[in-house]
Amino acid sequence: MAKTIDSRIPEGPISEKWSNYKAHQRLVNPKNKLKLDVIVVGTGLAGASAAASLAEMGFNVYNFCIQDSPRRAHSIAAQGGINAAKNYQNDGDSVYRLFYDTVKGGDYRAREANVYRLAEVSNNIIDQCVAQGVPFAREYGGTLANRSFGGAQVSRTFYAKGQTGQQLLLGAYSALSAQVQAGKVKLYTRYEMEDVVIVDGKARGIIAKNLVTGKLERFSANAVVIATGGYGNAYFLSTNAMGCNCTAAVQCYRKGAYMANPSYVQIHPTCIPVHGDKQSKLTLMSESLRNDGRIWVPKKIEDAKALQAGTKEGWEIPEEDRDYYLERRYPAFGNLVPRDVASRAAKERCDKGFGVNNTGLAVFLDFSESINRLGLDAMKQRYGNLFDMYEEITDVYPGDLANEINGVKYYKPMMIYPAIHYTMGGVWVDYELQTSIPGLFAIGECNFSDHGANRLGASALMQGLADGYFVLPYTIQNYLADQSLWPRVSTDLPEFAETEKAVDAELDRLLNIKGKRSVDSIHKELGHIMWEYVGMGRTAEGLKTGIQKMKELQKEFDTNLFVPGTKDGLNVELDKAIHLRDFFTMGELVAHDALSRNESCGGHFREEYQTEEGEAKRDDENFFYVGCWEYKGADKDPELIKEPLEYEAIKVQTRNYKN
Ligand SMILES: Cc1cc2nc3c(=O)[nH]c(=O)nc-3n(C[C@H](O)[C@H](O)[C@H](O)COP(=O)(O)OP(=O)(O)OC[C@H]3O[C@@H](n4cnc5c(N)ncnc54)[C@H](O)[C@@H]3O)c2cc1C
Repeated sequence: MAKTIDSRIPEGPISEKWSNYKAHQRLVNPKNKLKLDVIVVGTGLAGASAAASLAEMGFNVYNFCIQDSPRRAHSIAAQGGINAAKNYQNDGDSVYRLFYDTVKGGDYRAREANVYRLAEVSNNIIDQCVAQGVPFAREYGGTLANRSFGGAQVSRTFYAKGQTGQQLLLGAYSALSAQVQAGKVKLYTRYEMEDVVIVDGKARGIIAKNLVTGKLERFSANAVVIATGGYGNAYFLSTNAMGCNCTAAVQCYRKGAYMANPSYVQIHPTCIPVHGDKQSKLTLMSESLRNDGRIWVPKKIEDAKALQAGTKEGWEIPEEDRDYYLERRYPAFGNLVPRDVASRAAKERCDKGFGVNNTGLAVFLDFSESINRLGLDAMKQRYGNLFDMYEEITDVYPGDLANEINGVKYYKPMMIYPAIHYTMGGVWVDYELQTSIPGLFAIGECNFSDHGANRLGASALMQGLADGYFVLPYTIQNYLADQSLWPRVSTDLPEFAETEKAVDAELDRLLNIKGKRSVDSIHKELGHIMWEYVGMGRTAEGLKTGIQKMKELQKEFDTNLFVPGTKDGLNVELDKAIHLRDFFTMGELVAHDALSRNESCGGHFREEYQTEEGEAKRDDENFFYVGCWEYKGADKDPELIKEPLEYEAIKVQTRNYKN
């Protein structure tokens, strides 16, 4: 029987767990806080908010990021918004409803207690950000505006045009800067964490590479927090920033931190389709567009064929010949079904031959109806920068009038297709956000905590900021309370020397392979394998083939990689090689987890387990658990450990977005 693990969820009814936790937790003596050091790796929304809050509470914080400024973390990419249960629209929202939607959206695979806490603190986040001056969109009368995101029938998403992540990060950055100025945070930009240092079974520091000088440096602290983002770039093509990587998380995994639910990868339905084999990045068109854009493909296969051949344009197809397939299949939620549902539906139409571009892998996102109803100016106010971005990339402006049929005006539609976007899986953490290594915490996208098998739109920013501003600053104190008796450990300890030596040897190994293939060429091939065998539709046979192919490619990486230059000074190729080494480990983990989970849920779709209508078919009897993976060595398969899920407030049922 598989081992199980305890998530340390407090006793008591769900609505009281968090308040009881806060009330009973042992606070570190305020005087001792001044002596305690915390390393926070990452300056995205999770990392920057945590670093600022911990410093504000009196801890000394060392904050690391790979970019030249915290303001350039991947979080700035977030376009659409952040959820909170404020109920400003008076449309029946509540903490319970946000909690319920999130658990249901995650296909009943999230830890219930964590999600309730998330919904509870969601409102504080908005207050905090407004106080910082984040310029959320407002109604004409001055109150904060909202829009809707997938998987919800209320309007609870707060936004700042299509740049919500950037504006939120500027808010967190000002809070961080105040603490830098106060001497409580020391920032290390252009530093990459290469490994975690474990002393007496506890995380006591990190080895980081100064990316400019190439030098390895040792840092010690009383606790280490990683906030290093997700592993979507394992698939090579994704909507993630090019620098996103999972090296810190994977090194922690190699040192004993469990990796949870790695197969839960989110494929976002509205991305600009792949348009060639020279591409290294995919672009997201925010889900917020589905508030006003309608998704369709032609009803008639001959129209689809003409679109694919380039002999017809979308705006030449009249209303009655369009299949708004999401509205048809899911009348209650229509275009605002959750991402996993929308992505699979697009794939289903394209697999049946109804794709609308030359590769047959695209569907339309059309604003004609909204423009006719509300006017182009209203669309520009809501999505101006997204329309511009789309035009810049494709040379098509979605608001251009293109045709009129029977008195109905048709505007040029966007073309979209699903792409890898977000990773729900990640480092396993307990209720206190502590990993299975004492003293090591994980927050934001790099942990697995709150989204189950599918994240709802605008919930990542909510989770990252909840973790950073409101949860970790409390929970970490439970651990640090004991640490106040301990002095900061010396970086001269043998554990630091050994860890640094191992990192250095790894850099030498990669440089000395001296093969013929660039990092990118191997990474691209890994991405193809993952998309093909571990992507939107998975089968047991395909997953086994995928694992085999990954192993073969890893051999190629180990024997035929070419990294130019030396380890002294800036060497971007060397840094990418380290990331790729870890994408291999992560890729195999995704496949192992997907293979072990003989059911479909959320973003994990096993073709063998689907209903007659092509919906995901869960198996709650056998798979109602968090799948945690323990590292067993480079040449061994990881071991599965289960955290059984326990729901007390929500009845587990089949997801239904039809009525
Ligand atoms: C295009 C796009 C649009 C999105 N839109 C939305 C949205 O509208 N709403 C929403 O809720 N979510 C959205 N998301 C998801 C959301 O942006 C991310 O999940 C979230 O920003 C992740 O924040 P984070 O702080 O966990 O990590 P990140 O922002 O990825 O930050 C990671 C940090 O870790 C640092 N780092 C990484 N590795 C190391 C290392 N080894 N050593 C040192 N530092 C390291 C980086 O420098 C960076 O500072 C979107 C995502 C994308 C890609």
